[in-house]
Amino acid sequence: MFKALLLEKDEAGFRAGVSSIDESRLPVADVLVQPAFSTLNYKDALALTNQAPVVRQWPMVPGIDGAGTVLHSTHPDWQAGDLVVHNGWGVGETHWGCLAERARLKAEWLVRLPAVFSCRQAMAIGTAGYTAMLCVMALERHGVKPGDGEVLVTGASGGVGSVAIALLASLGHRVVAASGKLAEADYLRALGAATVIDRNDLSAPGKPLQKERWTAVVDAVGSHTLVNALAQTRYGGVVAACGLAQGPDLPGTVMPFILRNVTLAGIDSVMAPRALRQQAWDRLARDLDPVRLESIAEEVPLEAATQRAHDLMQGKVRGRIVVKI
Ligand code: NDP
Repeated sequence: MFKALLLEKDEAGFRAGVSSIDESRLPVADVLVQPAFSTLNYKDALALTNQAPVVRQWPMVPGIDGAGTVLHSTHPDWQAGDLVVHNGWGVGETHWGCLAERARLKAEWLVRLPAVFSCRQAMAIGTAGYTAMLCVMALERHGVKPGDGEVLVTGASGGVGSVAIALLASLGHRVVAASGKLAEADYLRALGAATVIDRNDLSAPGKPLQKERWTAVVDAVGSHTLVNALAQTRYGGVVAACGLAQGPDLPGTVMPFILRNVTLAGIDSVMAPRALRQQAWDRLARDLDPVRLESIAEEVPLEAATQRAHDLMQGKVRGRIVVKI
C-alpha cells in the first residue's frame, strides 16, 4: 500500500483527499519511482480544485512533477537507486502522477536529477521553473543578449515569473517585473528585478503599436497583457509566450510582427522532446542561483496540498509550493 492524493469524480461529485492505495492499481510503465518531493504548478492547482478539465481519467492521482529515487526498472536506461526528475507528459492528467509515495512512469519521460540539485530543489523549480528556462532559451535562440535592453516578465510573483526573473538577472539582463502584488516588490527585487511595474498597466485593451520599450518578454499571462507587451516590444524583439493566467485569448493585431519585426515564440513544456528537457535542466543547474531558488520555495506536506491549490487559484501564493511526500 502507498499513500497518495486521490481525485475522484462520480455521481456524488468531486472529491480530493489523501488515500491509501494498493500498488497493483498503479498504471503500467517500465520504471517504479518513489517521489521524495512533488510540487503544485498552475495545472496541478486547476486539477486539485476541479476548475478546468485537466484530469481526463477518474480516479486520478495528480502531480505532473516529481523528483525521487528509482525503486525498480525494466528499462536499461534506469537502475534502482537512480535519482530522477519528471515533468509533464500528461502525467496527473491521463496517467497517475507524483503527489504519491509511488509512481510508475515511462523510462523516456525521465531526466537524470542534475548533481547540483536535491530532489527538493528540483521541485522548487518544477515545470514552472523548467518552462521559465525554456522561455529564456527561446529568447537566446532569437539572439537576445545581456545588455541589449530591458526584459519584461509578466505574472512576476508566480512560479514561472519568479524563476524567469532569477534566471534572467543571473545571466546579466535588466529585468522589469509586472505584478499585481506590489506588496511583493522587495521579493521581486531580491530575485533580481531592476524595476517592478503594476500589472494593471498592461492588462486593459491598448493601441496596436505603443512606445517601444522591451527587448524581450517572458509572458505567463496571455490575453491583453501579451498583446500590450507585443505592442511595446522594440524593433526586432522577441516575446516568449507560455501562459494564460489572464486568459487564453489573443485580442491583438499583426502590427508588431509586420511593422516592427517582432517574433512571438510559443513555449510548451509538456511534450518538449527529451533532449531539450535535458538541455533546460543542465542550464538550470548552471544558471539558477540556489539562494534565489530557496527564497522562491515554500514547503508543505501532502495533506496541505489541496488547500494550497485553492490559495494558488485565488492568487494568494508567491513563488513555488514544494510538496514533501
Ligand atoms: P502561478 O499561479 O504561480 O503564477 C501566475 C501569476 O500570474 C500569478 O502569480 C499572478 O502574478 C499572475 N496573474 C494571475 N492572475 C492574473 C490575471 N488575471 N491577470 C494578470 N496576471 C495574473 O502559475 P505558474 O507561474 O505556475 O504558471 C503561469 C502560467 O503559465 C499559467 O497560465 C500556466 O498554465 C502556464 N504554464 C504553461 C506551461 C507551458 O508548458 N506552456 C508550463 C507551466 C505553466 P502577479 O500577482 O505577480 O501579477
